[in-house]
Amino acid sequence: MDTSVRVFDDGAWISVGGDRAVGVADVWRLDAACCDCDRSDVLVEAFEKARREDSAVEARTVGRCLDCGASGRVGWVRVGRVGADGFAVAEQPERVE
Ligand SMILES: [Zn+2]
Repeated sequence: MDTSVRVFDDGAWISVGGDRAVGVADVWRLDAACCDCDRSDVLVEAFEKARREDSAVEARTVGRCLDCGASGRVGWVRVGRVGADGFAVAEQPERVE
């Protein structure tokens, strides 16, 4: 199974194995790096890079905090995982260092 991970459409999508897997315009509850809010709802605006760390799929994400309005780099976010059945989107994406 091809499970290469990449960003395409100018950062609008992350593809896993050639399929659109995660798109912008989702709202994730995160400890974002773009502001000082602890956990806030972050609107995903773009993906800069994507990578695999073992089975985890992670994306360097740009977004906007809906609590304070700040926008910028959110940081790397674990967006899903590749398992025996293919890619599964995370129920709760988490920021990782
Ligand atoms: Zn904020």
